[in-house]
Amino acid sequence: MQTTVQALLAAMPPGSTQHISLPVYNDAPLDLTLVRGARGGQTLVVSAGVHGCEYIGVEALRRLRSALDPAQLSGNVVLLPLANPEGFYAQAKQVVPADQVNLNRAFPGDAAGSAAYRRAYAIERYLFSAADFWLDLHSGDMHEMVMPYAYFPLAGAAPETPADQPRVTPETALKACSAVKALSVPYRLGSYARTGLYNWAALRGIPSLLLERSGRCLRPEEDIAIYMRQVGELMAHLGIAEPTGASAATPQQELTDAIYTEAQQPGFWYPYIKEGQTFAAGACLGRLEDLSGNCVQQVRAAFDGLVLYYTAVLGVAEGDGLVAYARLAH
Ligand SMILES: [Zn+2]
Repeated sequence: MQTTVQALLAAMPPGSTQHISLPVYNDAPLDLTLVRGARGGQTLVVSAGVHGCEYIGVEALRRLRSALDPAQLSGNVVLLPLANPEGFYAQAKQVVPADQVNLNRAFPGDAAGSAAYRRAYAIERYLFSAADFWLDLHSGDMHEMVMPYAYFPLAGAAPETPADQPRVTPETALKACSAVKALSVPYRLGSYARTGLYNWAALRGIPSLLLERSGRCLRPEEDIAIYMRQVGELMAHLGIAEPTGASAATPQQELTDAIYTEAQQPGFWYPYIKEGQTFAAGACLGRLEDLSGNCVQQVRAAFDGLVLYYTAVLGVAEGDGLVAYARLAH
C-alpha cells in the first residue's frame, strides 16, 4: 500500500477529476473522487458513511462526485462517500459488520487488526498526508435523531489523558474553530475525543470538523442540499472555491459540557424531549421501564441546556445511548 492520495493528485492534470478505487487488504476498497483544481491551493478531504446508515452525508457526497467543476477550483477536493461500505450495504447500525466495531472508535487504525481497524489504517495511510483540512459528515443512526451542530477539536487534551499521548496543537484547533464559524451551522461543540476519524486527524495536525443533522435513515432533499452547501462554504473558507453568496450569515452559538446518558439495563425507553429542545435543570428527559411497567431509570437534566440527540426507538440494551445534551455557553 505505497500509493497515497497526495501522490495521485500530484500526477493528475490540473483541472481534472478522477474516480478511483483503492484496495484495502481483505476488505471492500475505498472509493474516492479526486478533484484537482485548475489552480493550486489547499486540499479538503470530505468523508461520509463512517456509520453506514447515516445517509445525508453519503448522498450529498455521491452527488458532489459529479457536481464539482475542477476548472473553477483553486486547490483540491477529495471525496470519500462511503468510509464504511460494508456497513452501508448491510445497513449495519454504527459498526463495521465483520467485527462489530464502531469505525469512529477505531482510530488510530492497525493494518494487522480486525476489519474496522484495518479500514481506519487504510484511511489514515492513503489520505492523511494529502489533507490540509478534513470534514466528516454524520447523522443520527437508524435509531437516533440529531439536531444540526458541528463538533470541533479542542486544543490540548482532556485532563485524564496520559502525558505521553499526542495533543491537538493550538494552531490546528484555531484553524478548525475559524472554519466552523464560517459555516451556516447553528451550534458548535468542542471535543477532546480521540478515537474518531476527525479526532485522530486533528491529533495528527489536520484541522477537522464533524457535522451532524437528522437521523433515523431519513434523507430529506433539504438536508442533503444543506450538506452540499456547507461543503461549498468550507471550500470558500479555505480559498478553494469562490463564495456562492447563497449562505446568509447564520448566528452560531457554542455548546459546552456535553453529557451522554446510557441505559443502565435493558428496557423500554420513553423520551420526553426531541432533538434541539431546550429544558431547565432537573427536568426529566425520559424514563426507562421494564416489561412490567416499573420505572427503572429516570434521566434528569444536570443543568439548563438543550438536546443534541436522543434515541427514538422503544427497545434499548444496557449501555445504549438514551439522550445527549449540552449547555449553551455564554
Ligand atoms: Zn455517525
